[in-house]
Amino acid sequence: MTTPSLDKAPLGEPPPGKPIFGKIALIGIGLIGGSIALAARRAGLARTIVAATRRAETAETANQLKLVDHCGTDLAAACEDADLVIVCTPVGSCGEATRAIAPSLKPGCIVSDVGSVKQAVIDAMAPHLPAHVHFVPAHPVAGTENSGPTAGFAELFDGRWCILTPLPGSDAAATDKLEAFWRGLGSEVERLDPADHDRILAITSHLPHLIAYTIVGTADDLAGHLNSEVLRFAAGGFRDFTRIAASDPTMWRDVFLNNREAVLEVLARFQEDLFYLQRAIRWGEGDKLFDLFTRTREIRRALIHLHQA
Ligand code: NAP
Repeated sequence: MTTPSLDKAPLGEPPPGKPIFGKIALIGIGLIGGSIALAARRAGLARTIVAATRRAETAETANQLKLVDHCGTDLAAACEDADLVIVCTPVGSCGEATRAIAPSLKPGCIVSDVGSVKQAVIDAMAPHLPAHVHFVPAHPVAGTENSGPTAGFAELFDGRWCILTPLPGSDAAATDKLEAFWRGLGSEVERLDPADHDRILAITSHLPHLIAYTIVGTADDLAGHLNSEVLRFAAGGFRDFTRIAASDPTMWRDVFLNNREAVLEVLARFQEDLFYLQRAIRWGEGDKLFDLFTRTREIRRALIHLHQA
């Protein structure tokens, strides 16, 4: 997906409509945090939206873009009196960010996240959270290859899935409220078990990124003049892979390290299937290639039918 023209009107008053939350605090204000802020403002889902991030320069950019009412670098201060706190940092930083905000979370506050991996994030965040808050993990299945506060846009979640992975003891009313919030941001919402989420995303998102990183890396390793010719004649397939391989290195390093088992499992399956194709090519078994390519073409058609292409 490419980023459409950015439309970041100054915040001002939220549009008419009943806000779901009084105050929302976003911890991390990059592509996802920034887009949540803009989409929540668009739909009037909160009276106040604040953010906090690690680096002062990121906070300054977020303030200049008027993504939120205020962005600072004190994570705990941002969460004071918040009704909803969403941790929007890379997966590997979710535990550390939660430890920092835990003392200032008010009773009844809903705490969520947007991590692309669920079980490892739950394991990292849950031990830090006080018993008086409601933890409902989430993952919006929407993104681009861009990152940082300038990458956010209000339409990012429109028509895309957001997967909630409530825990066995999660408060039903808090989960319903978070679901209503994500629907307000424009998403379709589904609930899944965290382990199922991680297995599904390993094949639909994590493996494709790994393949893209590999193909572009292999092309870059080609010796001498071939390297520049590859870039010069980059046609459809390779060009699409370079877009995926331009995704944020920190985010994707954390995804692979934190969804290790599921990724290694699908990678083993993938390698077997690749050997099958390798053999078919070597032995001139065109029917095997043709059959697979016919089946995969149908999958693309089904995606278009489901408006997910
Ligand atoms: P991003 O654009 O790189 O933004 C990350 C934000 O987190 C930045 O504001 C960064 O702040 C902040 N941050 C990093 N480490 C921090 C720490 N230790 N404490 C506080 N703030 C910290 O990343 P993103 O694309 O929005 O991704 C955020 C999360 O969403 C990740 O967990 C990712 O798995 C998930 N997600 C991403 C996508 C996608 O396509 N990008 C899609 C769905 C879900 P500084 O600049 O101040 O360091």
